[in-house]
Amino acid sequence: MGTLHGRKKRQLRAFLIAAAVLLAAVAAVFFFLRPFEGTPAPSAPSASLAPTQSAAVDASPHSSPQSGENSPSASQEPQNAQAPLETGLSLYEASLTVDAEQNLLFGKLRLTYVNPYPDSLFEVVLNLFPNAVSPKCFTLETVTVAGLDADYTLDENGTHLTLPLTRELKTGESTEIYISYAVQVPKTNDRFGVGKNRLMFGNAIPIAAVYENGAWRMDEYISTGDSFYSEAADYRVVIAAPQNYTVSCTGSVEEQRTQSGVTTMLASAYEVRDFAFSLHKNAYVSTQNANGIEVVGVALTKKAAELAAKSGADALLYFSDKICDYPYNRLCVVDFDGSGGMEYPGLIMINTSLLGGSTEEYATMVVAHEVAHQWFYGIVGSDQLNEPWVDESLVEFLGFAFSRANLGDAVYDELWQRSFESFSTYQRALRLDAPLKSLQGNDYFYVVYAYGAHVMRDLFNNLGEDTFYAALQNYVGEHRYKNAKGTDLIAAFSEAAGKDMSAWFEAKFAP
Ligand SMILES: [Zn+2]
Repeated sequence: MGTLHGRKKRQLRAFLIAAAVLLAAVAAVFFFLRPFEGTPAPSAPSASLAPTQSAAVDASPHSSPQSGENSPSASQEPQNAQAPLETGLSLYEASLTVDAEQNLLFGKLRLTYVNPYPDSLFEVVLNLFPNAVSPKCFTLETVTVAGLDADYTLDENGTHLTLPLTRELKTGESTEIYISYAVQVPKTNDRFGVGKNRLMFGNAIPIAAVYENGAWRMDEYISTGDSFYSEAADYRVVIAAPQNYTVSCTGSVEEQRTQSGVTTMLASAYEVRDFAFSLHKNAYVSTQNANGIEVVGVALTKKAAELAAKSGADALLYFSDKICDYPYNRLCVVDFDGSGGMEYPGLIMINTSLLGGSTEEYATMVVAHEVAHQWFYGIVGSDQLNEPWVDESLVEFLGFAFSRANLGDAVYDELWQRSFESFSTYQRALRLDAPLKSLQGNDYFYVVYAYGAHVMRDLFNNLGEDTFYAALQNYVGEHRYKNAKGTDLIAAFSEAAGKDMSAWFEAKFAP
């Protein structure tokens, strides 16, 4: 009995050990398999940009700039490369070819979309902003999700592409979206479109909309102001363009080469909320080093290129000192035919007459405004449709703050007077925190910029410079690469001030 009992115990022990080993093996298999289904790490672009599980989907007759001898190869030493980060963010790998004769852009985009939200997703919405600027200029060729042809829908204006997923996408899981497309770039003289000897590609790459409160944000595009609201992501983009054009873009240029009249570059950008680029024909390029960050001025005159680089570098140093280090290693400041300026991550566009004109101080202030957006809009995003004051009122004031520090009180006073002269007779009937759609025409400038800058100046004078910037440092620290709300900005000022500032802001918001 004892022996039998002992044998049974040994058998049981052996069984338990075997079961434990099996369980451990299963757990290990699951552990090692998990990364392949979950968060992807940014990787080097593959030789051909096509969906990984589908063959022969490239319907474009135009050759990929990544194929053949023009292709930047991994064996080359990267120039000015920024190491890929384990960001866990969505990855956009794009191959873009510009036909500057016909004003055409051919794009192939492989998006490894990572669900950053607590909800499971059953579809992904991409914004096709070119169609909002020029109806039907953006033509979809191939659209696949997880390697299968996508049964997609486009809304009435063609600006929101809804892609049903092949399975539930849980928090942190990823799926692969591939689209190839062609864009007939319209003549707009603006941030997206053809101008004089320039092609500007602001908001030209399809990027994911924001999902919040259980639904995708599919806002109407409003051309006054910036209808842009997005999540931070990683980008690896190959751009091929005619040799006589200077290509500027978001991020770092890892490789660049020219062959047979075509310049091909590979750019990478990590933790940015959009990717913009531009082509300038026979342009002047001026470069400044701002504490190791390359600031590149690109314009159609030498003077404008030099001013772009110099003022961009000065502003970058100022805000890096006051707020926090600029986290990327390159900033392009390029001229364009649009009015004022326009911000994108790592690339800002400044009106060509301003840069090349006689009002250098004013141009410098506009550059500083757009550089300040690198922190407020870029590093910390906000809902530019529902709360345009959050970034715009703040950076409008910061542009002047930079001018005062760099050019002195007299220049600052003069710039303030000149900029807001007509505001003194404006009767404000709208709240400062009004949404973009209710701020049309002059109201947008007067309320968000002119009045908003006055409010921020009052706040600056009320709190003092140190407390004001301490609040911005905390705000950026807490919401870096995320989207913040107006209440978050007020909370940061309250914390720095050591008192609740909500009532103070409410009194300023009200008409
Ligand atoms: Zn702005």
